[in-house]
Amino acid sequence: MDRTLPIQEHVSLRDWTTFRVGGPARYFIDLRSPDDLSRAFSFAATAGLPVFVLGGGSNLLVKDAGYHGLVLHMATSGWTVQSEDEHAVLLRVSAGEEWDTVAEYAVQNGWWGIENLSAIPGSVGAVPVQNVGAYGQEVSDTIISVEAWDRQSAQWCALTPDQCAFGYRTSIFNTSALDRYVITHVTFRLQRNGTPNLSHASVVDWLQRQACSQPSLADMRRAIIAIRTDGRLPDVHRTGNVGSFFKHALLRSAELDAMRQKVAISLGPEIADQLYELGHRFKAGELHKLPAGALIQAAGAVGWREDQAVQHERNPLVLVNLDGTAHARDVIKLADRIRDCVIEKTGIELSMEPRIVG
Ligand SMILES: Cc1cc2nc3c(=O)[nH]c(=O)nc-3n(C[C@H](O)[C@H](O)[C@H](O)COP(=O)(O)OP(=O)(O)OC[C@H]3O[C@@H](n4cnc5c(N)ncnc54)[C@H](O)[C@@H]3O)c2cc1C
Repeated sequence: MDRTLPIQEHVSLRDWTTFRVGGPARYFIDLRSPDDLSRAFSFAATAGLPVFVLGGGSNLLVKDAGYHGLVLHMATSGWTVQSEDEHAVLLRVSAGEEWDTVAEYAVQNGWWGIENLSAIPGSVGAVPVQNVGAYGQEVSDTIISVEAWDRQSAQWCALTPDQCAFGYRTSIFNTSALDRYVITHVTFRLQRNGTPNLSHASVVDWLQRQACSQPSLADMRRAIIAIRTDGRLPDVHRTGNVGSFFKHALLRSAELDAMRQKVAISLGPEIADQLYELGHRFKAGELHKLPAGALIQAAGAVGWREDQAVQHERNPLVLVNLDGTAHARDVIKLADRIRDCVIEKTGIELSMEPRIVG
């Protein structure tokens, strides 16, 4: 074993994830310097171990048997303003920094672009992976460069947004190049003279209720945090969860029509029309975005549980570890039941948002 690396053994992964579910990692390194990456991979290669890169553990479901390889926890820190002018600031941030600390820092400094992504748990290195998005903003709108260690070529590289191929909850990092890159830094371009993104109805409603007609950057962050903590999402510090468990469905027009026909038979024409209209309200490029929560609700997959794995009472899209003792197998069983019910009633197959590890 490489004695110069801080390698730990049999580390409980439930303590490193927000779901607080799952078994141990055979080996674990709390990686504080990117310079240790190549030695960590050499250690894993010599021992014949797979390697998994862990950020804040807020989008993972670790299986009960744990991970029989090396878990690399990105714990690097620091950020620098690379350049700035009267219009924008380029902010380069280490992967291990907490995402919301950066969102807060940007707002405090009057930099626009990521305020609607406030209060999303996790690390900076993970935000490009699923192109984190919320309340009308996607992080890809601000990313100008992703620096990474390329495991395939064993070299450092810097990827442009085009090379990252960002889409709705996707990028190369969770599709075509899954596990190929270890992201070490992300550079964001933030605007000095931005305007509020009011494309999400719940944000507009909240601001109206506060009689806030011309929201400042700080008002936007306040609105997002208030909406996120109003009880529709469980508090990760108290109840294990990973936020939304399923992605919204992206459908071509013909698929939306087929859904309407199927639902008209299985659940009645009124529900079919409601879902069809929702699909027309939200678009992602050419595709219709049908909210997963609406599909689950319409299918009647609500209030279900498998032992201590339970659907959140106010939001059936969120699965929670009720008393902290849920098993990954129960979460998976519950998710499968919900997915099967939605397919049966609507013909649409929901994709899971968190990644299963182990
Ligand atoms: C209460 C709650 C609310 C949430 N709300 C939202 C939301 O509104 N929008 C949204 O998009 N997401 C949301 N999420 C999901 C989650 O917070 C994000 O996906 C977040 O970016 C995950 O970051 P993480 O550091 O915890 O990643 P992890 O869960 O540790 O890892 C997720 C994936 O990223 C990979 N990864 C992590 N770091 C790196 C790195 N440095 N290099 C390469 N790969 C890496 C991992 O291997 C894994 O595949 C929410 C989660 C919770 C618990």
